[in-house]
Amino acid sequence: MKPSGINGTIRRVPQDIHFMGRALAAAEKALEQGEFPVGCVLTCENRVVATGARTGTGGGERNEVDHAEIRALRRLADAAPAADPRGLTLYTTMEPCLMCFGAILLYNIGRVVFAYEDVMGGGTRCDLRRLPPLYRSCRTVVTGAVRRRESLLLFKRFFSDPSNGYWRGSRLAEYTLAQKTDHLINH
Ligand SMILES: [Zn+2]
Repeated sequence: MKPSGINGTIRRVPQDIHFMGRALAAAEKALEQGEFPVGCVLTCENRVVATGARTGTGGGERNEVDHAEIRALRRLADAAPAADPRGLTLYTTMEPCLMCFGAILLYNIGRVVFAYEDVMGGGTRCDLRRLPPLYRSCRTVVTGAVRRRESLLLFKRFFSDPSNGYWRGSRLAEYTLAQKTDHLINH
């Protein structure tokens, strides 16, 4: 498994399917509570050490801080203070935004695995070579499209529900609702 690409990419490994399932469960729970369906788990040596789910999107509330990844990273210090960040993998059901990807880089997390691409605000494809030295030296590797279809279905449910106003009518909503799922292979 040799990293390649600008930020480093890596093929999926067998445990990715399992741990993304845990992130999807957290995302589904968020959806049931009227929140944007993003779930996240952090693993160390094939063990979940922290989880997080999106809050701050339901019931007319909106904040852009309580993303699933940030909430999981906040718990990391309590759960596994001695963990080597390079040995950590972050699983999230949606591609991390710039804020979350920035936090992931600052932590120097070894690997990120996401399910559904964020065509509107995804941050993992930014060219680190153009950023200041701290970020330029990061070697976080990224894998996408792991259990993509299942995550996509959660976002379709979210955007199809008229009671959900978060990102309604946005580029992400339109892209998501236009995605076909019937013929897709379930990764
Ligand atoms: Zn984010």
